[in-house]
Amino acid sequence: MSDKISCPVCPHHCSLADNQTGICGARIARNGQVVPVDDGILSAIHVDPIEKKPLNHYLPGAGALSLGSFGCNLKCKGCQNDSISQVPVCRARGFKLTPEQIISEAGHHHCPVIAYTYNEPIIWAEFVQKTAAAAHAHGLKNVMVTAGYVAPESRDSLFEHIDAANVDLKGFTEDFYRSWANASLKPVLETLEYLHRKPGFWLEITTLLIPGINDDPDSLKAEFDWIAQKLGPDVPVHLSAFHPAHRAMDIPRTPVETILMAKDLAVQSGLHYIYPGNVPVPSDTRCPGCTNIVIRRFGFQTEISGMQEGICSHCGQKIAGVWN
Ligand code: SF4
Repeated sequence: MSDKISCPVCPHHCSLADNQTGICGARIARNGQVVPVDDGILSAIHVDPIEKKPLNHYLPGAGALSLGSFGCNLKCKGCQNDSISQVPVCRARGFKLTPEQIISEAGHHHCPVIAYTYNEPIIWAEFVQKTAAAAHAHGLKNVMVTAGYVAPESRDSLFEHIDAANVDLKGFTEDFYRSWANASLKPVLETLEYLHRKPGFWLEITTLLIPGINDDPDSLKAEFDWIAQKLGPDVPVHLSAFHPAHRAMDIPRTPVETILMAKDLAVQSGLHYIYPGNVPVPSDTRCPGCTNIVIRRFGFQTEISGMQEGICSHCGQKIAGVWN
């Protein structure tokens, strides 16, 4: 009989001997269970505008008390946050707060939302779940920024207390996911469909466009067509520019023209809300019915200028989102 134990959290399903750590560097086998290496260790806590997650259609202008830990179950060559995501917990220098202290910080900073972000939250799920449950008990909302590389059997518990998410859809081929991120595409698409079906849940998607790696127009068009068909045209899609980082310092920044090309393809696929990220391009929210600007955006600042209660003031069309 094998004395190894399989971690149920993500599709890697690491098979671990006692005291062995998984690919993510955040979970370890101890006494017949796979548990966090150091439950509740944090790398950062900041107040961010919710638009920075990015979530553009969820409580605009809200402050999100944002938490991060260490490690990641993906190994993206161009990781944009490698100083925490690619650091195993056993080598991390972090700090601890209790869920109650975090709730209290949120109140102190007038944040109606707690965001689990900066590194992959599913790998420190126990602390996320405890904190998110406490946040709900205090009337706060919980949002997650995740790569969506989640095992099907863990989805219900991981997202039980989460109200909204921005999911990274990093590319649209299995080859890309395998060679760039040591992961696979199919479970991410399944997570997106799962979250889209979850009652009352708000979903947005981010794709980081990496020059010469995942910016092929055919693959982008296939991605946008899939989103339109499977999730519908109202899911906001953020198209972000890459900057050289981690093990991809030889890849240049994404040109603005690439972001605009991708935006055109997304429009052709029928998507209603497409947002350029990390480039100096306007990212106002426009009504898909009449193109009236309903939310003006200045960096991460917003001004609701053309809608009331989620209805376009000019033509009366419903603007998809959670507005209050
Ligand atoms: S969460 Fe970590 S330990 Fe668990 S299967 Fe994924 S990479 Fe392995």
